Amino acid sequence: MLAAVLDEQGQPLRVRELPDPEPGPGQIALSVRACGVCRTDLHLRDAEIEATKLPVVLGHQIVGVSDDGERLGVPWLGYTCGHCKFCRSGRENLCLEARFTGRDIDGGFAQRTVADRRYCFALPDGLSDEQVAPLLCGGLIGYRALTMTGDAERVGLYGFGSAAHMICQLAVHQGRRVFAFTRPDDTRTQEFARTLGAEWAGSSLQAPPEPLDAAIIFAAAGPLVVQALRVLDRGGTVVCAGIHMSEIPAFSYDDLWQERSIRSVANLTRTDAEAMLREAPQVPIRTTVSTYPLAAAEQALADLRAGAFEGSAVVVP
Ligand SMILES: [Zn+2]
Ligand SMILES: [Zn+2]
Repeated sequence: MLAAVLDEQGQPLRVRELPDPEPGPGQIALSVRACGVCRTDLHLRDAEIEATKLPVVLGHQIVGVSDDGERLGVPWLGYTCGHCKFCRSGRENLCLEARFTGRDIDGGFAQRTVADRRYCFALPDGLSDEQVAPLLCGGLIGYRALTMTGDAERVGLYGFGSAAHMICQLAVHQGRRVFAFTRPDDTRTQEFARTLGAEWAGSSLQAPPEPLDAAIIFAAAGPLVVQALRVLDRGGTVVCAGIHMSEIPAFSYDDLWQERSIRSVANLTRTDAEAMLREAPQVPIRTTVSTYPLAAAEQALADLRAGAFEGSAVVVP
């Protein structure tokens, strides 16, 4: 099979021939139909988070078809131990022995892959392979992050990329009011956010027209945490949804006072995935997708880094 391989962090992906992966016990072999591109792939490519195995096939939003013709989704969470205190308390996303697709396990920027059957999901009908792939990380992590805002009515989304463009639609469907924050001059993305139901869109340096009940930070810039904290109403929460972020600057305790809080969201549980995949078609969430052939996987990462497309990128092997 052909795969886009990360041999060394900081170096471009190389497309080359690899032997077809053989399924181990409990695993299923899949022909990859589409694989979403996530900022985590870019962090691994750019050495912003540590690789655990090299070479590695990146990609953890996999839509594949089994040899029996079953269409399945493979997410970031690829394995959990099932017996640690986190697994036993419904928090398998924090499992001490968790293994992740496209980092610890070869992922989906390839023609074939294998995955643990217990972490694969049936996918909703009516969504094409390209359309459904971005739900499998951006959608799922975004869903978990939105859940962490509780019943917040006014929700700010900082960084309006793949995850935010899906979660905006879900939040509006749930009756929430969405405020979208982008880089200061990115009027194109602000307009995109309005078309998806955001009632206000502007620069992350701006204050929204009224205080927010919660903010979700999808961008990897630490200063946004402080910006968001300062536009929260009393009791509001900042949820950090990324796996990596630059340093958060010091801020006054006054910004946190009045029961404001900051928390992170890590990974996903299978329960999140099942709930999200059930709810997505009811919204319905429509993903805006740019597709790339396998040979252009490196280009997809470069375009993500440059903010060259709206919505999500998907590699179609
Ligand atoms: Zn991801
Ligand atoms: Zn565990």
